[in-house]
Formats: sequence, C-alpha cells, structure tokens
Amino acid sequence: MSGILYLVATPIGNLGDFSFRGVEILKAADRVLAEDTRNTKYLLNHYDIQAKTLEPFHAHNEYKKVYFYTQKLQDGESIALVSDAGTPAISDPGFLLCESALNNNIQVEVIPGPTAFVPALIKSGFALHRFVYEGFLPLKKGRKTRLDAMLSTSATTVFYESPRRIVKTLAYFEAAGFGQRKASVSRELTKKFEETRTDYISNLLEYFNETTPKGEFVVVLEGSEQYESRIK
Ligand code: SAM
Repeated sequence: MSGILYLVATPIGNLGDFSFRGVEILKAADRVLAEDTRNTKYLLNHYDIQAKTLEPFHAHNEYKKVYFYTQKLQDGESIALVSDAGTPAISDPGFLLCESALNNNIQVEVIPGPTAFVPALIKSGFALHRFVYEGFLPLKKGRKTRLDAMLSTSATTVFYESPRRIVKTLAYFEAAGFGQRKASVSRELTKKFEETRTDYISNLLEYFNETTPKGEFVVVLEGSEQYESRIK
C-alpha cells in the first residue's frame, strides 16, 4: 500500500505558531524533506522532534528528486515536506511532488498553518470577498505587464516583494497615475519588528524613501473596484 505525502505548514517567524498536528507528523514521518535543513533543524529542536531523516528538497533539486520520492511513497513510506517558512507550494517547492503523488494515486494531506499573504491581506483592511495572489513578480521580463495587470484588477491583489524593490514598485504605481490608490505594506509578520502600513501609495512611497525597507515584505494593493468607489 502507498504511503502518504504530508505538506506541513511551519511558522513564518513566531515559533509558537506551529500546530500540534504538524509536530506529530514530523515526529512520525519516515522522511522529512526540508528546503533548508539547517533552518528546519531549528524548528525540530524547538519542538524536540527527532525526525527519522532530514533531507534537502529545494528549488535546485526538486525536479531531480520528484521521481525518487514518488517511488518511496509508492513503496509505502510516509513523507513530510516543509519549506523554510509558511506553507509548502505557496511560492515555495512542493507543487511538483504533490502533482506527482496525486497522479500516482498517492494520498496527499495538507497540514494547514502559517502563510505570509493571509495575515497581510487581513491587516490591509481592504475588501476580501475576492482577492488575487500574485506571488513574486518576475524581476525583469514581464514585470511591467504584471504590475499593469494588477492596477486594472478589480479585486484586492497581494504579492511578495523584496525590500530592495518596494520603492521601485510603489514608484511605478505612482508614475502610472495611482498615487491616490491605497496599498498596504506588511513587514516581518509575527516577528518582533512586525509592522503594517496602509496608506495612499504616494504616502507609502514618501515613507519608504525616507526609511530603508528592511526584512520580509508582503504588499497588498487595493482593488480597482474599491478604489473607484472611494474616489467617486
Ligand atoms: N511559503 C511561504 C508562505 O506560505 O508564505 C512563502 C515563501 S516565499 C519564498 C518567501 C516570501 O514570503 C518572503 O520573501 C516574503 O515576501 C514573504 N514572507 C515570508 N515570511 C514573512 C513574514 N514573516 N513577514 C512578511 N513577509 C513574509
């Protein structure tokens, strides 16, 4: 009988955010696959988890390893996959192994938990009956197309951004004529220096031109529907 693939969400900063079920699964799994084994070791030590094995599974080896781990699952092993932080397969490795497991009729279980874009969306205070997750934007080719598409999206949009590009991205929105559109920038969610600023894009730009952005960031853009009804 085939084993089970577990995709286990882990904390995005505050170690207290790990679930009881996550702990039990990492303890019991035949293999724990981790994006960066040193980071995961820290989590395992904190929860006194003696994983049977801890093996690297990251963007640079996942294509090569998918077949191997699918076979191990078919042999009956249980495998738990974690990423460095948050939910595997959300802008992180995991999708390929999940797809392969499902294609081979292997049971997949997701242990839900932290993911950075959800608290950022909620803290934005923007309408959330519909939203679009854009993950990371391409660095060069196609970046402008995606930024323009976001500006014309009626629903709230959320994306991950590097502190090195926040100012450039906000400046692009302002230059496109949307200085009075609102955005929300969350940094270091669940950590000591957690901060969320929701404001007009032109004000955010001014702030981040004066205060060097540091840490991990999520940006939420007010949807065009909410923007247009606000400026009417
Ligand atoms: N799988 C993760 C998730 O479920 O959110 C996302 C992984 S992605 C490689 C890493 C990006 O997520 C960071 O560059 C940042 O944009 C965002 N992120 C992760 N942790 C964060 C935090 N504590 N505060 C703000 N953003 C965070």
